[in-house]
Amino acid sequence: MLSTHDSMVSAKRLAIMGGTFDPIHFGHLLIAEQAREAMELDMVVFVPNGRPVFEKPHEVTSAEERFRLCSLAIAGNSRFSLSRAEIDRPGPSFAVDTVQEFRKLYPNLDALFFITGADAVLDILGWHEYDRLIDQCEFIAATRPGFKLDRLNELGSETLRGRIHFLTIPGLDISSTDIRARVTRGHSIRYLTPDPVVRRIDEVGLYRPDCSSSDNAAV
Ligand code: ATP
Ligand code: MG
Repeated sequence: MLSTHDSMVSAKRLAIMGGTFDPIHFGHLLIAEQAREAMELDMVVFVPNGRPVFEKPHEVTSAEERFRLCSLAIAGNSRFSLSRAEIDRPGPSFAVDTVQEFRKLYPNLDALFFITGADAVLDILGWHEYDRLIDQCEFIAATRPGFKLDRLNELGSETLRGRIHFLTIPGLDISSTDIRARVTRGHSIRYLTPDPVVRRIDEVGLYRPDCSSSDNAAV
């Protein structure tokens, strides 16, 4: 049987699914799965960012804990894997560095993609060295309830638009922000994220008003 590492090495079409994943939820898993099928990907690699580049309005949970939640969420899907690339790399988590690292690790890829939701893709122009980034990978931009993809026409250059594949997926109006708020208020998050993630959040006491398992100091 092939290990995850072997199947990644032999993968020809790979996608990076980047995010803060604080916490990971069914919206993330759904866009990864829909992209995998639509673009005939061999593997989707979840890459939780170590230190989010853009300031977040909340205290970000420690990278190790977010990584652990991702690992619980993707268990059982042999086409999903998880990377520590951004967690182990010092400094801010720039997508361009991750893409370059993947290009070096897997030099025989036919295609490398970066998956985003409709909100994140609108930000690409503001990403660090975005022209180098779009040169090295293509984007898959999935629909997300509450965000319009057509705004990209106003923003993007011809070159950028040519590198983006638009993907319409069933809308799941789930966000990590909403999940955190629900936990803080003591409400249920069951069926918004896989059961093992729900259990872990409960066990560790994440997002409760008195919880301090964040590493904002390192952000
Ligand atoms: P937060 O509310 O903390 O920003 P989030 O739910 O947006 O969390 P992120 O980790 O910021 O999650 O998102 C990672 C990627 O997943 C982004 O590209 C985002 O657009 C995409 N994404 C997140 N949730 C959804 C969803 N429900 N539908 C489609 N795309 C999504
Ligand atoms: Mg977000």
